[in-house]
Amino acid sequence: MTLAGKTALVTGGTRGIGLAIARTLHREGAQVIAVSTSRDQVEAFRAEFPSDEARAELADVRDRESLEAVRSRIPDLDILVPNAGVNTRCVAVELADEALREMIETNLYGVFVTCQVFGPLLIEKGAGRVVATGSLAAIHGMNLRAAYSASKAGLSGLVRSLAVEWGPHGVTVNAVGPGIIRTPLTQQYIDANPDRAQATIEHTPLRRLGEVEDVADVVAFLASDAARFVTGQTIFVDGGISAGSDWW
Ligand code: NDP
Repeated sequence: MTLAGKTALVTGGTRGIGLAIARTLHREGAQVIAVSTSRDQVEAFRAEFPSDEARAELADVRDRESLEAVRSRIPDLDILVPNAGVNTRCVAVELADEALREMIETNLYGVFVTCQVFGPLLIEKGAGRVVATGSLAAIHGMNLRAAYSASKAGLSGLVRSLAVEWGPHGVTVNAVGPGIIRTPLTQQYIDANPDRAQATIEHTPLRRLGEVEDVADVVAFLASDAARFVTGQTIFVDGGISAGSDWW
């Protein structure tokens, strides 16, 4: 599954799932560019990867011009990973407009614009891989996540349509749909709500929470030549939650 000689760009690639994806693609041989809005995160990434083989850029996926500035510094691209995403947990009727717009603008508009800005580099080459980070919430209704679910369902729809448009140009477009994954942010929730975490484990066929590497390995597969005939799919990396439940 080597990615030697490939260049990959990962939005939100400086922490959480995105950082695991950046590390895994780098380990598999790709040159990696991580994108983040946070100067501190960019500095931390640069400290972890002092070589040119991995670098971090400041940009906001809600801002087309900032993405175009990054593109102007990239001569070549093979793998695009629109991973940046945000999630505010709130009952739908009380969700503030600002949080609603932030989720739609980051998780859907931001992924769309990321594909518009960097996709042409793949199309012009006649080859490439797009692997976006969706969510189990795209197909599995969840309490407190109506806007988030809507944005991630939109992402799965976007992936299917781009697969149809870009397939004739040799570009595959897929998504991973993580379930409940242990990240620094979710760890805070897990620590504060151990009973909820245990209930989640008991409702997961594989009887554990996901780790960031579980997601990153599937991204590496979809980015590799091994997945050359797979496109338009959202592959759920959820320990089987989307397959069903044995609660009854
Ligand atoms: P984190 O909050 O740890 O990471 C989110 C990343 O997105 C950060 O690197 C952040 O960078 C970046 N980001 C957020 N907004 C923007 C923006 N406007 N422009 C550029 N970068 C941005 O979350 P996770 O690692 O958990 O999530 C990564 C992806 O996985 C998201 O799409 C999320 O929806 C999805 N997911 C996560 C699950 C989980 O259980 N953790 C489950 C299902 C899906 P910075 O803030 O530094 O700019």
